[in-house]
Amino acid sequence: LGDVYKRQDKKARERDEFRKAKIAAEEASRYMSEFLAKVSHEVRTPINAVLGMDEMILRESRNRDIKKYAVDIQTAARSLHSIFNEILDSSKIQSGRMEIVPVEYNLGIMLNELVSMVSVRAAEKNLELVVDVDDSMPSVLKGDDLRIKQVAVNLLTNAVKYTPEYGKIRVEAEVLGMFVRLSVSDTGIGIAPEHMNDVFQRFFREEKVHNEKGVGIGLYLAREIITKQGGYMKVVSKEDAGSTFFIYLPNEQEELSQN
Ligand code: ADP
Repeated sequence: LGDVYKRQDKKARERDEFRKAKIAAEEASRYMSEFLAKVSHEVRTPINAVLGMDEMILRESRNRDIKKYAVDIQTAARSLHSIFNEILDSSKIQSGRMEIVPVEYNLGIMLNELVSMVSVRAAEKNLELVVDVDDSMPSVLKGDDLRIKQVAVNLLTNAVKYTPEYGKIRVEAEVLGMFVRLSVSDTGIGIAPEHMNDVFQRFFREEKVHNEKGVGIGLYLAREIITKQGGYMKVVSKEDAGSTFFIYLPNEQEELSQN
């Protein structure tokens, strides 16, 4: 009987230790997440100062060399800014603090704004950039326009980043019953079949892209943001041929007219 008690005792001790370790791990993870959120938030202020001052140099300098240095500073500072924004968003999602603010927006206008944001970079690589918004698209949709824009910018930036020179990028928007479907297609390097789901995981990057800038949070954020608004994301891709990322958003307009 003593043996039985001893065994039960040992089990209870193990359970207790496991519980303690679990609590400690959760606390460490929460601490890390809060720490990253704080640092990212704080770091954005000096980066904005650098960008602001750099803008003055770009405006006022007549010296070509100085202007070139200032453009390089701008590129680096913007890239830092977006990395910290991604880390901040990721920690918001992890702690359930990511808020979705639905407003009315026009998808066609949004897409044209986006395309002009990446057009310079696309032109540098001689990429053809086409936008096609279906005529049946309602002029007013409901959703968090800033967050949807953030996701679309990310898909478009990826398309530009992962498509070699003289490729094609196509942005399409159409209504498919209860959903509005937005797609970004490219004729780029594509994704290996075994990594098709991994690309939405945090910090996942394919081996072959290590030369390109990025931390691998963008698609994770994208999927979380779209899912939070009642939509979903999908990717279809073929290696060395290209990829298409799809965003399905609930067509609130449709729901309203049906009720
Ligand atoms: P990042 O671009 O910063 O690495 P993302 O989360 O946006 O992070 O993408 C994760 C990974 O998915 C990329 O590192 C790349 O391997 C793959 N990927 C994303 N978009 C494309 C694309 N358009 N074509 C090929 N691979 C892509």
